[in-house]
Amino acid sequence: MSSSIEYLKGVGPTKGEMLKKELSIFTFGDLLLQFPFRYIDKTKFHRIGALNRDSEYVQLRGILRRLSTLGDGRSKRLVGVFRDETGIIELIWFKGAYWIEQSLQVGCEYVVYGKINHFNGKLSIPHPEIEIVNDQNTILAPSFAPVYPSTEKLNSKGLHHKARRKLIQTIFEKISALDIAETLPEYIVEKYQFPSRFDAIKNIHLPQSQAALNASIKRLKFEELFFLQLRLLRNKVDRKRSIKGYVFPKLDNYFNRFFYEKLKFELTGAQKRVIREIRMDTRSGIQMNRLLQGDVGSGKTVVGLMVMLMALDNGYQACMLAPTAILAQQHFISITESLEGLDIVVGFLAGSVKGKKRKALLEALADGTIQILIGTHAILEDPVIFNNLGLAITDEQHRFGVAQRAKLWGKNKPIPPHVLVMTATPIPRTLSMTIYGDLDVSVIDELPPGRKSIKTLHKTENNRLRVFGFMKEEIAKGRQIYVVYPLIEESATLDLQNLEQGYEVLSREFPKPEFQISVVHGRMKAKDKDIEMQRFVEGVTQIMVATTVIEVGVNVPNASVMIIENTERFGLSQLHQLRGRVGRGGEQSFCILMSSFKLSQEAKERIGTMVRTTNGFEIAEADLKLRGPGKIEGTQQSGILDFKLVDLVKDAKILQAAREIAIAILEKDPDFIHPDHLNLRQYLKKNKNKFKQWSLIS
Ligand code: ADP
Ligand code: MG
Repeated sequence: MSSSIEYLKGVGPTKGEMLKKELSIFTFGDLLLQFPFRYIDKTKFHRIGALNRDSEYVQLRGILRRLSTLGDGRSKRLVGVFRDETGIIELIWFKGAYWIEQSLQVGCEYVVYGKINHFNGKLSIPHPEIEIVNDQNTILAPSFAPVYPSTEKLNSKGLHHKARRKLIQTIFEKISALDIAETLPEYIVEKYQFPSRFDAIKNIHLPQSQAALNASIKRLKFEELFFLQLRLLRNKVDRKRSIKGYVFPKLDNYFNRFFYEKLKFELTGAQKRVIREIRMDTRSGIQMNRLLQGDVGSGKTVVGLMVMLMALDNGYQACMLAPTAILAQQHFISITESLEGLDIVVGFLAGSVKGKKRKALLEALADGTIQILIGTHAILEDPVIFNNLGLAITDEQHRFGVAQRAKLWGKNKPIPPHVLVMTATPIPRTLSMTIYGDLDVSVIDELPPGRKSIKTLHKTENNRLRVFGFMKEEIAKGRQIYVVYPLIEESATLDLQNLEQGYEVLSREFPKPEFQISVVHGRMKAKDKDIEMQRFVEGVTQIMVATTVIEVGVNVPNASVMIIENTERFGLSQLHQLRGRVGRGGEQSFCILMSSFKLSQEAKERIGTMVRTTNGFEIAEADLKLRGPGKIEGTQQSGILDFKLVDLVKDAKILQAAREIAIAILEKDPDFIHPDHLNLRQYLKKNKNKFKQWSLIS
């Protein structure tokens, strides 16, 4: 298995070099461990009438009815009408039309193989393989063959997938079951009746049958997820053994006075549960690393605040980091307000705090005068030194990188602060088990009582005047309104123009002095942004025109209408975050999604999801399905989702099983001492480097 790839019969030095360069295949083993990504299935025929939008590669048998050249210039194409007894489908060629037309005969029976394309509700097969059915080959040999990822270069060197298949066959002629060691404990293989690792790998390349292939894929997926979970959870065990944390044994004046005298509402059951979970962590003597997930408006801030008071009650400092200056400021104001009379010194630090003010603040922080520090990334800078930081909270964590979180750990030595990461981006369970597999996770799955659900409507440009009318009605009732425009790095200038045009139109429609409008966008100076924001917060302005800078955190309970322009350009999680800005007061709130009339299928589904539900977890699941795990916010930098076979959307059950088994093993035998676990120990040791990056994530 570790033989160098060029020694494989049929490879040699030139092709060997190619395989190394293009596909990182260095050894026989590497070749076997790059799996096919699909199979050409010519064992069965599909019926045209049964095809639908989800159909992919199909083999059809029927009569070529017509053949004609349509369109001109770049859209010129040869179109064949192909029918069987159940329906009709178009075959389309954009290239080589002349030769194809010459070689085909209308009225004859053909076998066609290709990938279904759907366009404007119509199905077709572009550039199909097509073969005539005649006396010599009436029965075309049925075949089932793997297809491998390839590149132009490999193809040009004769390493297309047929050649790959041949190489794999050659390897299997040379090796035996002993060469591919079993990696899973015997009892797991038995429990799930998995094929052996050898059989699984053989069958994924050279399937004996569909059933054998399915079983092999399932086993290999399990293996992929199982070792990932084992590693993540093992990290957690390691950390818990080796990293101490401060003990917060008591709840004292600060916590209790806040709870009994200051808190204006009853905590929800979910908030209480989470506070209890955190309290357990901070009494354990082990450093807490907890992720707190809760939908927008679920009341994470007050939980964070009460946890900070636990730290203070035990003589430690606490800090809270927010991703933007506006949000940090807002936390600072609301927290200062809610702590009034408790004699707690709260500091604020952002890039804008400079000179003497900064110096004084840093001194007060270092000597322990400041008990709670609230701020932006500026907190992470080296000159910011705490006296005894016992707890660090980051709000809306997906904006923070891994390296930044590591810096937080370093803010207190030798014992790192407890870390609580709060996020309003609900992450589907399958993802959080993977990305945050080694963190403890708490969920606030309950909104404070009395919230009216937000009515969400989808409107197009034709409805513009009625939307203006509606805005006027709401303003007359004393409400405030957000109008949000997309801002995307690549088209920033155009986006800004868009916002400015929108602002002009609104200014005409909502003239002064009757109406006042605020504008906030990314190109403004922080100071001006703050002023505009403040005017809106204070109710001086009724309309806030903004780019997504308001996406995170701002809290204006009187704002009850959210109008999103160019909705189709926002991602689902962004839309959900934006909508969460309204519905915070007691009034009926509205979210109006403006879009153009013509929408892609995906945009339609995104908007449809928003109209249908306000549940963040449901939206996150839909997002995962629409975009796949790699694109979900918070996952990009992790690299953890580069699975060979696993699809987190489809394989949630396997993941669940793999995680449960990994947990059970670590509970009983965390160091893999038991003879049943010998192969686990060996496998993890051998693949140590491969797993290294994962430990960075926490
Ligand atoms: P999040 O940060 O989770 O989006 P916030 O902490 O900003 O939510 O809370 C949203 C609003 O709900 C705030 O005005 C807060 O004071 C209020 N709130 C929080 N918890 C409760 C509760 N248990 N009952 C009533 N109101 C609450
Ligand atoms: Mg918040």
